[in-house]
Amino acid sequence: MKIARVRYEGRVLAARVAGDTVFPVVVEEPRHMSDAVRDLIADGTAEEVLGAGVPGVPLADVELLSPLAAPQKIVCIGLNYADHIRETGLRTPQSPLAFVKTAHCLTGPAAEVRVPRGTTEQLDWEAELAVVVGRTARNVSAADAAAYVFGYTVANDVSARDAQFSDGQWFRGKNFDGFCPLGPWITTAAEVPDPQDLAVRARVNGRTVQDGSTKEMIFGVAEVIAYLSRYMTLYPGDVIATGTPHGVGMGRDPQLWLADGDVVEVEVEGLGLLRNPVRVTG
Ligand code: ZN
Repeated sequence: MKIARVRYEGRVLAARVAGDTVFPVVVEEPRHMSDAVRDLIADGTAEEVLGAGVPGVPLADVELLSPLAAPQKIVCIGLNYADHIRETGLRTPQSPLAFVKTAHCLTGPAAEVRVPRGTTEQLDWEAELAVVVGRTARNVSAADAAAYVFGYTVANDVSARDAQFSDGQWFRGKNFDGFCPLGPWITTAAEVPDPQDLAVRARVNGRTVQDGSTKEMIFGVAEVIAYLSRYMTLYPGDVIATGTPHGVGMGRDPQLWLADGDVVEVEVEGLGLLRNPVRVTG
């Protein structure tokens, strides 16, 4: 099943997507940190509730939002593809290198990424497979990890490299408003037979800049879940962005930075496409 959050007739709803039709089912109550999809995942009822027979509306008539609005956390894995490590000149981590983005970064699959003028001169993209946690996970083994995955989606781990590397750690450079386009929907795990065999691509203004595969990950999805859950509880709806293959702007020669009007497309095979224009604001 493909599960989305959509804006339709002024309301936000959790919905099932089938082809070009959306079946909006649950109205999200407009409260701080509300998130209908997260709550359905936590209740264990997402597929049952969203599978209800309700009237469909054309996909073109809704605005797709980030499929999760307020996960308890978004854990990102840095330097998880060998070719990407090479292009950054950084050292290969001995265990998954985790950092965090918080929910305020989340934005929709077609939303503008709006960057205030003067805040960065090195705006970059990172195409990534994102995992959505389905069950509370604490100290699970890699062998059992798949049972804790609700589904998969696509993330762009937008990064301001100057902010990222001028600070002692990565929080600011990874956490401007809008720096985590996510979606266009969550594809449930049953529809993704092998998360370690998916093409991961990015294009800037139509030109392919990243063309990798999740096969190349150093630490695979199961290993990352096992590792993280030794130290922190993973909750339903949590997102794990699993790292990016080579081809980011900072690794190119010459380097390529995003500018006002550029359009970044990020896709993971079978999971959909993010298409986010960059807007530099006054
Ligand atoms: Zn990343």
